[in-house]
Amino acid sequence: MSSFSDRRFVLVFAASLLAVSASLPTLAAPDGDNAAIARIIDEGMNRSEAMATASALMDRIGARLTNSENHRKAESWAMEQLRKQGLANVHAEPFEFGLGWNLDSHSLTMVSPRVLPMTGIPVAWSPPTSVTVRAAIVIAPMAREEHFAEWKGKLAGKIVLVSLPSETAESKGPVFERYSDADIAALDKYTKPVFDPDAPALQVRGRQFQGKLAAFLKAEGALAMVKLSYRDGKLVHGEGYDFQPGQTLAVPAIELAQEDYRRLVRLAKTGPAPEIEIAVAARYDSSDLMADNIIAEIPGSDPKAGYVMAGAHFDSWIAGDGASDNGAGSVTVIEAARLLAKLGIKPRRTIRFALWSGEEQGLLGSRAYIEQHLATRPVDPALKGIDSYVAWRNAFPITPKAEYKELKAYFNMDNGSGRFRGIYTEGNLGADKLLREWLSPFNMLGADKLVASKTTGTDHVYLQAIGLPGYQFIQDPLDYDSRVHHTNLDTVDHMRAEAMRQAAVIMAGMLWQAANSDKELPRAVLPSQPAPTDPFKVRDPAQ
Ligand SMILES: [Zn+2]
Repeated sequence: MSSFSDRRFVLVFAASLLAVSASLPTLAAPDGDNAAIARIIDEGMNRSEAMATASALMDRIGARLTNSENHRKAESWAMEQLRKQGLANVHAEPFEFGLGWNLDSHSLTMVSPRVLPMTGIPVAWSPPTSVTVRAAIVIAPMAREEHFAEWKGKLAGKIVLVSLPSETAESKGPVFERYSDADIAALDKYTKPVFDPDAPALQVRGRQFQGKLAAFLKAEGALAMVKLSYRDGKLVHGEGYDFQPGQTLAVPAIELAQEDYRRLVRLAKTGPAPEIEIAVAARYDSSDLMADNIIAEIPGSDPKAGYVMAGAHFDSWIAGDGASDNGAGSVTVIEAARLLAKLGIKPRRTIRFALWSGEEQGLLGSRAYIEQHLATRPVDPALKGIDSYVAWRNAFPITPKAEYKELKAYFNMDNGSGRFRGIYTEGNLGADKLLREWLSPFNMLGADKLVASKTTGTDHVYLQAIGLPGYQFIQDPLDYDSRVHHTNLDTVDHMRAEAMRQAAVIMAGMLWQAANSDKELPRAVLPSQPAPTDPFKVRDPAQ
């Protein structure tokens, strides 16, 4: 930990001591307190602060790339917000991450055969342009190292379009969707586990290609690389994973909107290569390689009863404001914390809230929490960032820590801002009964379904992977997958106020019941080394 975060930590600690003494009376709550549920519903439905909180976070602060200046600004804001709401032990828990990267401005313009502003986004953690770069483009699609030979000696002084310009997609299905009961019923199935011992190495190789491509372009004297966005409709994303010091991309990298990319390709096919101008002002920051999770609590009355928890990832990508992914979840956690603190009653178990960071780069914050508090897995410490993410899920044995037994329930939110419709039981059939009971006060709000399938790709996953009770809510998809997820459209406009009210009320209600119940969610079996699903698999060597 650098001296910068030491200082930050001391400030946080001092402030959290103040918060403890200033908050929460010590009266213990009776189990199954319906009056408390009624008060949560009343406050959350009639005096919700969720959308005002959303605007303060997304409109005023904006995107929160892990370990960026903006993320740190948002952390300070969130901790102040939680303290004002009466939460205790509000603090940051730093974990090893990598470089900070701050995007100040960028512009992309076609300058010949005509002048036209284009839509694109620099790839996160890619280098800035030192001046405005103006050059002719060359279309040189490269997806594997074998493709480099074809372009050797042909790229000097050029801006290189490195993606194959696939055909324009024909959209199927609606852009905006709410689940029908039949859609939800289709989710009620056991997700069969798959174990492929070669999968981590293949994933790492795939990810490392981007760095090798940038190094090849640099060696050839190319000025920048441009790749095709993976959605049409002028949507761009800018995801990047090369954030370790000394391992950033060797040339500026831009993700360009499909419509702009294909226009350049058509023009290059039918006349002189178009010229484009790229200007990217971005700053690396190596002063503090730690990123922070934010933790806050409502202390319980029975120190032996363990704790329950809710969380959402606070970090986002950079193209939009990080509203549906995952400002919505973060705001819901902050609002649920407010609703519970406002009750002014001590729960039996401590209720802990987490705003995770580094989720977008491989669940790094929630995994760090697991490693610090709950259990360890034998992963090569030389693996960093997303490479360690890939390795972690297949590393055995799992070694629980003392706190492993204390975490009684975890509720995560990271599926956009659609209304809660129920809960995924993640294949833990024994949890069905109690989750259904806790959800029952909220059936009238439209959340009444339990489905067996697993959900992937967010912060409860590694809790589930070590056998702990981490759950996610079923949410209406809205336009999350079609347009909003990671894109430049991820703004507060695509959030739904009524859904945010409902989500916070249900999250608070589930936590309250889990914190006071005489019963505990049944544990899954502690996972152990699986056998390969297909022991005779033979791979395509080009894979
Ligand atoms: Zn997310």
